[in-house]
Amino acid sequence: MDEALVKEIAILKKQHNAVILAHNYESDEIQAIADYTGDSLGLSRTAAKTDADVIVFCGVFFMAETAKILSPQKKVLLPDLNAGCPMADMITAEKLRAFKAANPGRTVICYVNSTAEVKAESDICCTSANAIDLVKALPVDEKILFVPDMHLGRFVAEKTGRDIICWKGFCPTHMKITADVVRSARQRHPLAIVLIHPECMWEAVQEADEALSTGQMLAFVKKSEAKEFVIATEKGILYQLRKDNPGKEFYMASPDIVCPNMKKINLLKVRDALLKMQYEVTVDRVLAVKAKQAIDRML
Ligand code: SF4
Repeated sequence: MDEALVKEIAILKKQHNAVILAHNYESDEIQAIADYTGDSLGLSRTAAKTDADVIVFCGVFFMAETAKILSPQKKVLLPDLNAGCPMADMITAEKLRAFKAANPGRTVICYVNSTAEVKAESDICCTSANAIDLVKALPVDEKILFVPDMHLGRFVAEKTGRDIICWKGFCPTHMKITADVVRSARQRHPLAIVLIHPECMWEAVQEADEALSTGQMLAFVKKSEAKEFVIATEKGILYQLRKDNPGKEFYMASPDIVCPNMKKINLLKVRDALLKMQYEVTVDRVLAVKAKQAIDRML
């Protein structure tokens, strides 16, 4: 850690009444200086509650957009505008309209990992933590379109038995976690509990002990009596897991489960974001109102 840079960030943060939010997949140095760490929706809700004027969102573009939708009065900065999410970008509002037209009469559920324009075209938003409960809360005969993640959609369909048609989007990082990867990690660590994220392929999910969102993983490990865990999600989560659980051992299912977009933000870029008030993320007001309706229905 560059201590001088860390100090400079702290001073600038105070000057601008700013708060730094970091996703669980960010690098250790970013999570270490953050005021709050968590998943995208948890962070946005935290941001909406604070009295900060400026939110420096260390994550990817759709997360900063969601923070802006929930906190329209605040200035939301993304320290690197190139930090995008390939999965969120796999569907546009136009493609979603065509998908709806081809499958009429279905309720559209969009994973929070989607752009504001896609949220605005959807009926309800969901997270990986609440997708199953949300679908179960809908009338049994309600048919669903799920965007953009086909793996989370399949997971929800398998767990609820509901009629769900998925858009064929996916997370390239979680796609690296195949069933073979999970099986071989279990062989290397036979005493460990295997935790996987539901953005992974269903075949891989079936090989694990628990399929959990990042927030659920953190809570599960804290409560568990077990001492060893295999982690099948983005490597950044190890920072919080190790911090919260000093006596427990964590093994990555594979060393290359790294999201390059989540790693684009570094201390220098956070300093520059605060120094130059860059890069501000805005959302068209009409779009933001519609997107917020999908989020509010979920909440
Ligand atoms: S881990 Fe996957 S879903 Fe998350 S930001 Fe990276 S590419 Fe997108």
